[in-house]
Amino acid sequence: MITYEGETIEVIDAHSHMGERQQLAIHQIPPIMKFMAEDMIRSMDEAGVDKVVTFAIGAGRPTDYRETNRYISEMMKKHPERIIGFMRLNPADGPKHTLEVLEEGVRLGLKGIKIHPLIEKTPANDREKVYPLMEAAEHHRLVVLFHCGLGEYASPKRLGEVARDFPGLTLIMGHSGLVEGVREVVEYAKKYPNVHMDSSGVGWLPFFCESIVWAGADRVMYGSDHPFNPMDWEVEKIIKHAQGHLKLKVEDLRKIMGGNIRRLLDLG
Ligand SMILES: [Zn+2]
Repeated sequence: MITYEGETIEVIDAHSHMGERQQLAIHQIPPIMKFMAEDMIRSMDEAGVDKVVTFAIGAGRPTDYRETNRYISEMMKKHPERIIGFMRLNPADGPKHTLEVLEEGVRLGLKGIKIHPLIEKTPANDREKVYPLMEAAEHHRLVVLFHCGLGEYASPKRLGEVARDFPGLTLIMGHSGLVEGVREVVEYAKKYPNVHMDSSGVGWLPFFCESIVWAGADRVMYGSDHPFNPMDWEVEKIIKHAQGHLKLKVEDLRKIMGGNIRRLLDLG
């Protein structure tokens, strides 16, 4: 919980990573190569974050993420009040194998899917490798978070097609498309009611503020991308800095800080 002008606000982080990697997909950062549930809970306590949506750290060498999905499910059962696990999938393995990993993830109780089209070298709207996963996600009512931005395979346009082709699917465009993609992501959010976005890594405040005003406070949610970005940065970005510009009603702040992801995941 955090307090804002005397009001308590529940904070649910919609985007974070956990697990252990021999090699990262980005340059090697030792504290990120092993980031386990205890580390996450320590960061959450420091930043006033109540619950976290978490999934595997991107791998430098191809993996199906099965092992980390199992670890995250175990940690979700150990810390049910703090950790909400998503499975990470690697569509490059082809739909047959990846659907098996997905079905295992469902049995493990994981609540959603994370896909990174650039790390897994597969376009977000790949008909053969990604669409069967989206059908299964829609069937199991799993929320799907795609990394969005930084490269063409993860472009807002490709994700917009996924949103259009699967209207029953709850889609989160991760990082709101980062800086260069924010305006396009907002356009898709206005066009397709199943499109949502998370705040992690949106570094230019005017675009971030625009995303809330134009797409609406129902569609933007706080996410940190921790441990890549500090949780408290991303909390402050909204509560102190964006709010300094926007003067949102406390009810809208509540939606952004946790209410929206709570609603999307049916947490009650
Ligand atoms: Zn991330």
